[in-house]
Amino acid sequence: MAGKKEKRFREIKRSHAWVSIIVFVIVMIAANIVIALFAISFMNYIIDQKVTDEFNTVRYMTMLYDDSQSRGGNDTADILAVSGRSYRVTSADGTVLFGNGEYTVGEQGGYLQLSRFSGKIHIIADESLPLTVPGYGKDVYFNLFSIMNDVRVFTSSEAVDRADEEDYVSGLPDEDNAELLHLPFWIMNETADGSFLTVKSHLTFNMRDIWLLGISFAVMTLFIGIILVILLVNIIVGIVRRRRTLNVFFTDVVTKGHNMMWLLIKGEEKLKKLRNLSVKYALVNLDFVNYRNFCVCHSVEEGEQVLFNMYGIIAANTDRKREMCAHGGSSDFALIMRFNDEQALERRLQTLIEKLSVTDPDHVFSFHAGVVVIEPDGTVGKDGVQIHRRSLDLEREYINACTAAETLDGTEGSGIAFFDSKIVEDQKWIDVVHEHQRTALENEEFIVYYQPKYDPKTDELRGAEALIRWQSPEYGFVSPGRFIPIFEKNGFITEIDHYMIQHVARDQKMWLDAGYHCVPVSVNVSRAHFIESDLAEQIRDMVDRYGTPHDLIEIELTESAFFDDKKAMINTIGKLKSYGFAVSMDDFGSGYSSLNSLKDMPLDVLKLDAEFFRGENGGERGEIVVAEAIRLAKSLNMRTVAEGVEVRNQVDFLADQGCDMIQGYFYAKPMPSNEYEERMRAGRRPKSEIV
Ligand code: C2E
Ligand code: CA
Ligand code: CA
Repeated sequence: MAGKKEKRFREIKRSHAWVSIIVFVIVMIAANIVIALFAISFMNYIIDQKVTDEFNTVRYMTMLYDDSQSRGGNDTADILAVSGRSYRVTSADGTVLFGNGEYTVGEQGGYLQLSRFSGKIHIIADESLPLTVPGYGKDVYFNLFSIMNDVRVFTSSEAVDRADEEDYVSGLPDEDNAELLHLPFWIMNETADGSFLTVKSHLTFNMRDIWLLGISFAVMTLFIGIILVILLVNIIVGIVRRRRTLNVFFTDVVTKGHNMMWLLIKGEEKLKKLRNLSVKYALVNLDFVNYRNFCVCHSVEEGEQVLFNMYGIIAANTDRKREMCAHGGSSDFALIMRFNDEQALERRLQTLIEKLSVTDPDHVFSFHAGVVVIEPDGTVGKDGVQIHRRSLDLEREYINACTAAETLDGTEGSGIAFFDSKIVEDQKWIDVVHEHQRTALENEEFIVYYQPKYDPKTDELRGAEALIRWQSPEYGFVSPGRFIPIFEKNGFITEIDHYMIQHVARDQKMWLDAGYHCVPVSVNVSRAHFIESDLAEQIRDMVDRYGTPHDLIEIELTESAFFDDKKAMINTIGKLKSYGFAVSMDDFGSGYSSLNSLKDMPLDVLKLDAEFFRGENGGERGEIVVAEAIRLAKSLNMRTVAEGVEVRNQVDFLADQGCDMIQGYFYAKPMPSNEYEERMRAGRRPKSEIV
């Protein structure tokens, strides 16, 4: 299936889902990065703070040292000892001058930049836990990762024990004070007199730090988590909504079943993906012929209820796993059916139609089914081209199925038509006719032929019927059977009727003026035309334009026209008669009997349909019907014309029955106007021709 519908479906199917999922994944990755960065920076901040505190202690001790030295330096060692820290004072050349506690300075050391001080501080590793630094004298980075290798980790009970022993920070409960991580190192600071004070420091993490970190981490995670949850909910809501939209997209409101869109999109997908490509499928358009009529006579609600019930019957008669059915536009259903041989498929469809026709117990419904066979993969088509399911366009095939069903339009009851090349040819021809009709009319490609009507008793010319022919420069001589039905459908027939009346009126006037013995010529007026309320006036004006006497023009109405608006019909016939035109009923006896119309319509002429005289039609019984029809016409004061009479004994029989005129090949075929002029000149049928 190509085109906008599929595009729209794909849009709905994928709209926003991927975008939302991608956004979600990006946000999730970003959130993890943010949480990690936050944790690292927070830890680094804490480390920085702790080292700064240690450095401040050392600076304070340096200050005490300088102060004591300025006062003589006798109490320096005592003052510094108060801090409780291990320290050493060394001279510029490295000689230890005095100190306190164990001097466990390690081998490695370097310079550390703190955020709160502009200069770098000199730190040295403790020999118990050497700092991982690139080499003595280089810059040291105290960050979370660099100290990981260097810290000593205690279990919480060990940590509490240590806290008991050392009791660094008074006033805090032991659990909070307990160190969980411990990194000893030394800070060296220069004094005012050029000596160096090296103090043992500690980078420690206790439970309080962990709590602080944990809480901030939790707050941060919660915040980001809420954003992620909102996003996730949004995505889920989007997916649910999309599913609902797809359901609406594929659901038929009348039958609550699947709609056409579903069948075309899913059906095409299914047929293309099918593994067993040798199985035959049929795409069927099933048209409920009486739907509109039913709605007009009852109500749309009742009509829709019938459609609902029909869908139920169709669904129950299709294999849900392997076949598909849907309700299309108003009266259409579509099916995809599996089958092996066409006759079995036709029987199956026939059975389905029989079931559907009695959906409502008070009615018998008709259906027209159009079938397109979806050939197995690799089948060689009539055009010699291999058919591949991959290139299947189900929408196009469905149009073909509908076209096949349309060929049954106008036929009685239900029917099944398979789409074939003839239908394609017919459609192409319809297109050609549509395309050329106007120019053909303007270029006078339509020609009037005349078929004389003779009195069977005297062989005298009594009248003629004007019959159209199309002399096309492209398509040659085209008989009316090939284009009149098309014009009747597309409405162009009314223009043709005008054209014929004008040409006949013009010819008659011309012949009258030329001194011919003119007889009435009948012109066919289509049923569609009879809907116009001023038809009689139109005809009168057209004839008057040429000044043709009205009694030289007769109007033929086909029998089926009599089923339309009876009142309007009687009115128009009455007016035509009052203007002096004779009116005849064409094709009497074909299709439905129109005895009723005879009763109501004040007609002048009854034309017996050619069907009465075809072959051995009816034999003796047929003759009785014809004789009675002639008698009936006579008692209604109507003249009779027998059409399609080809053989002598029919002529004799009709003459005996008192038939007024015969229009048939026995006397003459429809002929161009110059030949008809000859007939008028002769007046009678030439004796030499009578067999
Ligand atoms: P129709 O009005 O029933 O015209 C009579 C048809 O029977 C004509 O066919 C005529 O050629 C044919 N016919 C007459 N006698 C015989 C016979 O002895 N044997 C056989 N086999 N056929 C005979 P045609 O001219 O092909 O017209 C077919 C139909 O096309 C007409 O049937 C009429 O319904 C329609 N048509 C023709 N011309 C016009 C027109 O100008 N306007 C309209 N509206 N319809 C027209
Ligand atoms: Ca006719
Ligand atoms: Ca006829």
